[in-house]
Amino acid sequence: NEPLETVDPEIAAVLDQELSRQRHTLEMIASENFVPRAILEAQGSVLTNKYAEGYPGRRYYGGCEFVDIAENLAIERAKSLFGAQFANVQPHSGATANAAVLHAIASAGDTILGLELSHGGHLTHGMKLNFSGRLYNAVSYGVDPETMLIDMDAVRDAALEHKPAVIIAGWSAYPRQLDFAAFRAIADEVGAKLWVDMAHFAGLVAAGLHPTPLPYADVVSSTVHKTLAGPRSGVILSNNEELFKKLNSAVFPGQQGGPLMHVIAAKATAFKLAATDEFRERQERTLRGAALLADRLTRDDARSAGIDVLSGGTDVHLALVDLRASEVDGKQAEDVLHEVGITVNRNSVPFDPRPPMVTSGVRIGTPALATRGFDDAQFAEVADVIAHALMPSPDIAALRSRVATLADAFPLYPGL
Ligand code: PLP
Repeated sequence: NEPLETVDPEIAAVLDQELSRQRHTLEMIASENFVPRAILEAQGSVLTNKYAEGYPGRRYYGGCEFVDIAENLAIERAKSLFGAQFANVQPHSGATANAAVLHAIASAGDTILGLELSHGGHLTHGMKLNFSGRLYNAVSYGVDPETMLIDMDAVRDAALEHKPAVIIAGWSAYPRQLDFAAFRAIADEVGAKLWVDMAHFAGLVAAGLHPTPLPYADVVSSTVHKTLAGPRSGVILSNNEELFKKLNSAVFPGQQGGPLMHVIAAKATAFKLAATDEFRERQERTLRGAALLADRLTRDDARSAGIDVLSGGTDVHLALVDLRASEVDGKQAEDVLHEVGITVNRNSVPFDPRPPMVTSGVRIGTPALATRGFDDAQFAEVADVIAHALMPSPDIAALRSRVATLADAFPLYPGL
């Protein structure tokens, strides 16, 4: 029963260093967030010891009476949060949730139609090295080269041409809302299942600040750790009972063995918190922050340095910086922001002339800073720091000090 710092000082040091990094830098990776202490507690708990293959009340192991309570709470809260009739809370991650979804709604060799990876799609939507691209015949739709928006006529043309078994709506890097009704109409026209992967925008949906895909999709998958701000994991929702039986069986035994009960307990807590007014207020700040950022990066001084944002703005929790006309590439932008203390990731933009390891884009998100307490004034300040960092000859020391002032004003995990 010795503490970690005695048992394994090297790993204890990593935990300390990472906490310090999170405290002293500004986290703007769009898929990241800070979980509350309550979630750290549930995740770092004795529930990690428990095997619970099966589902509540139907386990293949004894002693599941308490973990059943946790899983039932997670299921009920997920259903109520998203207005879904069925929820599976066992996926270990977004990618395993997506593998189970495809396992349930398609057969090997079937055609699946999703957003092109380099236009903002996800690996599990058909990338050729991913299971989704290896097991299925993956085809894609892209964004319009002028507007950088998904053109539903082009989606329909692709669906009519390829007759997919599954149409995927969802993204990892796209700054606008999707037209779920139009996706549904196209899926119905070609006899495809509609799967919405709301991993990125689930927190906005939970807060009622983004249209919900539930009334339109056959199945909805999500991660729990992005805008939703819960433990790193996945969830699957549906309103179709027959399909849901297949989804359950695709998760277990189709895809996974023992569920991570400590993570499931933490998911229950995350869904509870996501139903509060405080969570909604945080998502509102998240959206305002992203809009302020997009606005700052499209002002004249930024534009004259070749900086732009894709689609001219954002409706969600991120902005996609377009550096195709800038001398600074995505890699350099990521590095200079790292130097001033802001963490982001470079990202290919659609029709990117630079290679994938370099890219001409940066994806910048506001969820983690909104969780930290940022409001309009702080988002305006960080947006200005970013704009100056990306323009020629930035004063790194001055920018770093502005970042430090912001970070110090919002202590992270006080007392931890
Ligand atoms: N789906 C989308 C749209 C994502 O953006 C991601 C993560 O980046 C995933 C699924 C996969 O989630 P995970 O990293 O938990 O496997």
